[in-house]
Amino acid sequence: MKIVDIRATTVAVPLEAPLRHSNGAHWGRFVRTLVEVETDNGLVGLGEMGGGGESAEAAFRALLPYLKGHDPFQVEALRFKIANPTASLYNNRTQLLAALEFACLDLVGRHLGVPVCDLLGGRLRDAVPFASYLFFRYASDGHGEIRTPDQLVAHAGELKAAHGFTVHKLKGGVFPPDYELECYRALAAAFPGDRLRYDPNAVLSVAEGLRFGKAIEALDNDYLEDPVWGLEGLRAVRERVNVPLATNTVVVNFEQLASNVLRRAADVVLLDTTFWGGVRPCVKAAGVCETFQLGVAVHSSGELGVQLATMLHLGAVLPNLTYAADAHYHQLRDDVIEGGKLAYRDGAIAVPSGPGLGVRLDRERVARYAELYKETGGYPYDRDPGRPGWYATVPNERFADPSVSLDVSG
Ligand SMILES: [Mg+2]
Repeated sequence: MKIVDIRATTVAVPLEAPLRHSNGAHWGRFVRTLVEVETDNGLVGLGEMGGGGESAEAAFRALLPYLKGHDPFQVEALRFKIANPTASLYNNRTQLLAALEFACLDLVGRHLGVPVCDLLGGRLRDAVPFASYLFFRYASDGHGEIRTPDQLVAHAGELKAAHGFTVHKLKGGVFPPDYELECYRALAAAFPGDRLRYDPNAVLSVAEGLRFGKAIEALDNDYLEDPVWGLEGLRAVRERVNVPLATNTVVVNFEQLASNVLRRAADVVLLDTTFWGGVRPCVKAAGVCETFQLGVAVHSSGELGVQLATMLHLGAVLPNLTYAADAHYHQLRDDVIEGGKLAYRDGAIAVPSGPGLGVRLDRERVARYAELYKETGGYPYDRDPGRPGWYATVPNERFADPSVSLDVSG
């Protein structure tokens, strides 16, 4: 089996409403690049990367000379062909490598007629549990606003009823910390017996991180995720707060993982199949975490069904996955895979059992959302549609005003 072609297609898939975060917002849609890697035996493997547009599509096409004739079974060689660590200082292709690794694993699985999890050691679970992943949201066409504690609790209740979540993650860093603390406490009060996690995307000062962490110590926390920036910032908070700390920002490669093992800053490492350069590096990192008794969970960088499948196969094979995974997935209105969105059942999504990643592109949906991308284009992830001219600093002190209700549709 040899690679003969690589195709990349940018799509925009609508969200229920614009999602707010500490750096800006997802402006009502996710923009993703779908990658198709074709082999000489007629198979097509699927990959996915965040962002898109002409430059992303061209970046994948530019790798065809590197990969033409490459055997998808040679996944370890792929790493050095595309992202040799020294060359990466110049060309930084980790996320491209990840999408290509997904496609190669998909191809190998399809070729052998086995699911990707069987290539990674075999499944330990048939479904991966997920957290509710709650965002503050702008209204869009008069619907979907989440700004007040009451709106947040109502939204979490709807998601819990619909999907069966028993873990709730609040994405914060949008409003002043005391206001978000009130929101977090409202969730704790509304869902006794459920577990909680809070993630302000590293935007708090160490002093505010300590204050927030101390204030939630008595609640049923999974962990406090990236309250502040940096390994040293996390370490300063961890020394004085009795809540486990998690990160998806400053332990995203093996050098940083080594630092965190030698001088612990985070207790839980959130593994992202894109940030780490593929599914296999996440499995390797989870092995290191198992040895050093660090927790692991599965991070979400805003996926459609192809990347979600990589998260499910990863979650299936990790013995030390003791926390629910995160997914933005339920915030989407649709997906690009056959059958539409994968369903949650009792707060979990079944690990696909078909060959490879176990998902296939729905041509009609891909065409529709490629057209939507052409109409609407990209969006600045690090800007806020409701606050023109604003940009985030770290630590941030210029938080959004929770009394302001905006509809940012159109
Ligand atoms: Mg995070």
